[in-house]
Amino acid sequence: MLTNDILSQWDRENFFHPSTHLGQFARGEGAQRIVTGGEGCHITDRDGNRLLDAFAGLYCVNVGYGRTEISEAIAKQARELAYYHAYAGHGSEASITLAKMVMDRAPDHMARVYFGLGGSDANETNVKLIWYYNNILGRPAKKKIISRWRGYHGSGLMTGSLTGLELFHKKFDLPLTQVIHTEAPYYFRRPDLAMTEADFVAHCVDELEKLIAAEGADTIAAFIGEPVLGTGGIVPPPAGYWEAIQKVLARHDILLVADEVVTGFGRLGSMFGSDHYGMKPDLITIAKGLTSAYAPLSGSIVSSAMWEVLARGTDENGVLGHGWTYSAHPIGAAAGIANLDLIDRLGLVENAGKTGAYLNRAMAVALGDHAHVGDIRGEGMLCAVELVADRETRTFFDASATTGAKVVGAMLKRGVIARAMPQGDILGFAPPLCLTEAEADHIAGVTAEALREVLG
Ligand code: PLP
Repeated sequence: MLTNDILSQWDRENFFHPSTHLGQFARGEGAQRIVTGGEGCHITDRDGNRLLDAFAGLYCVNVGYGRTEISEAIAKQARELAYYHAYAGHGSEASITLAKMVMDRAPDHMARVYFGLGGSDANETNVKLIWYYNNILGRPAKKKIISRWRGYHGSGLMTGSLTGLELFHKKFDLPLTQVIHTEAPYYFRRPDLAMTEADFVAHCVDELEKLIAAEGADTIAAFIGEPVLGTGGIVPPPAGYWEAIQKVLARHDILLVADEVVTGFGRLGSMFGSDHYGMKPDLITIAKGLTSAYAPLSGSIVSSAMWEVLARGTDENGVLGHGWTYSAHPIGAAAGIANLDLIDRLGLVENAGKTGAYLNRAMAVALGDHAHVGDIRGEGMLCAVELVADRETRTFFDASATTGAKVVGAMLKRGVIARAMPQGDILGFAPPLCLTEAEADHIAGVTAEALREVLG
């Protein structure tokens, strides 16, 4: 077995890590962790640490670590048929079965699922399908996509453009011109503190209407949004938001894409966020929770209305020119089947709702009266704690102080992984859906201790 020193050196000399400060890492200044295993909500590393992973990897290991039901399904599939493509009507028992399982769980008005590999490529597929759809309908100018500031939809060229976070645009020449952004449904950061939630929803609607009027509805194809803003700060929408937004979209014949990469398959305590908030999307993006990240797999679920136009398009134009070598990969599909079975068998959707609410309450009890906690919010097994310099005036800390990252660092010393969200001093929590109440109490207790260490 390689020694830690050698691995660490090879890592710094050869491995180009995603979302990493490249210079610091290469110089040996940035954090490095070599993960070796995991069980339930915990991971272990080469230095002998056992950490409670309160972010489930990147909010994806929904069933928890070390589930042999899934690893055995993967091994069995690899032995029987590790790969065959899905072009031109080919499939495997696993990919066909998983498609059926996904569609059985999806909202009733959805018709088919296209499988990809990750959330970014699924959203890339969505945009292509939307453009194709409008071309078939004879609306070649109706192509722009509206996304929200602080939305996260991936980090490709188009999906990085859809993402509304500065870090993902800066120095990359993004966003591309076909993407336009509107107000984030972020009540805590409302422009005027005097606004009620209803006022703020009216403000979001107004901003959207103004954008549509300025650009022209005949140039706008779709609106994409996560049911709950994720990477942008873990922000549940204000009451009535989705209902009001959908009315505007319907009036202007603008499609809705629900990006359920985080919320799909149970994280909110409902199978889909679309069910949770009464959304009726034309496309749903799925990834993470589809396999609990035991193997890469994503999907674009297409509505019946859209499917009919796409199918007509191929009657008129021939084969759909879109596909990846690894679309519907049998190993990912086998992982997906075992994962969805496990979610059902363990009642994890229900537990996400119940224990998630417990975690949110525990956090409020442990931190609610701290002078630098401005907001504690969440839905299902999602929770965020937003830090402020001054509670009364809602003044934020200077970003250069990296206050949120310091609290997350103090938590790590105590064996709990939270995520310092990328824009703002926001502590993010998205544990596996199998979290217990005792683990929730532990996360809340450690957060409070870490907060006191950093902020007094
Ligand atoms: N959409 C949402 C809502 C996400 O949270 C993410 C990733 O965090 C993506 C898309 C992109 O998925 P991936 O990183 O698998 O490309």
